[in-house]
Amino acid sequence: MTQHPGNPAGLSDPHELDLFEFARSGRQAAGVVRVSQLPRMLNEVPAEAPDRDTAFTWQAEGATQPELQDDGTEGPQPYLRMAIHGAAWLECQRCMTPYSQAFNVDATYRIVSTEAEAEEFPLDEDEVEVIVGSRQFDLIDLIEEELLLSLPLVPKHEVCPKVHESLVSGVAGTEGKGDEADEGDEPKRPNPFAALDSLKRGEPGDKKH
Ligand SMILES: [Zn+2]
Repeated sequence: MTQHPGNPAGLSDPHELDLFEFARSGRQAAGVVRVSQLPRMLNEVPAEAPDRDTAFTWQAEGATQPELQDDGTEGPQPYLRMAIHGAAWLECQRCMTPYSQAFNVDATYRIVSTEAEAEEFPLDEDEVEVIVGSRQFDLIDLIEEELLLSLPLVPKHEVCPKVHESLVSGVAGTEGKGDEADEGDEPKRPNPFAALDSLKRGEPGDKKH
């Protein structure tokens, strides 16, 4: 058995995770991943950024939920929930200088065994994404995918420093809020995992502090 020291979360290798086992045994893992480990994210970071190698923290949790299977019996359907928090420097498309963009991802995935199964899953089930699991699942790759999907369509400062300075009045600063849907439209709608979550913790619901 290979030892992986410095991995208190009990995850052998986040690049080669047995995702089915992870879900079945309801395991949890957490870690830190740096932009330098995510080549496609690094592409988005401008060369003149003050820090090109910012860090993201992530937490993953596996679970199963009894669901009707193809053979008509109830079986444990594996799920993965993942949260990612952190920031990366992007180039503001308004003033073309770097700014720090926050990322806050909380995603729930239904884990299926084959591409065919993934395709037959109804697309309008938008609160749950579908991933094809494996015994050597690359969790870091999923994290990068999720971050790329969370990139703003048009990266920009809330208030560009140069624009702000030139309009010395400074009144224009907060204008234009709410013109586009905010990112992080974390839904309040329930998902299978949330239900599980509250069951496990014996809480009626999640309260924001
Ligand atoms: Zn700007």
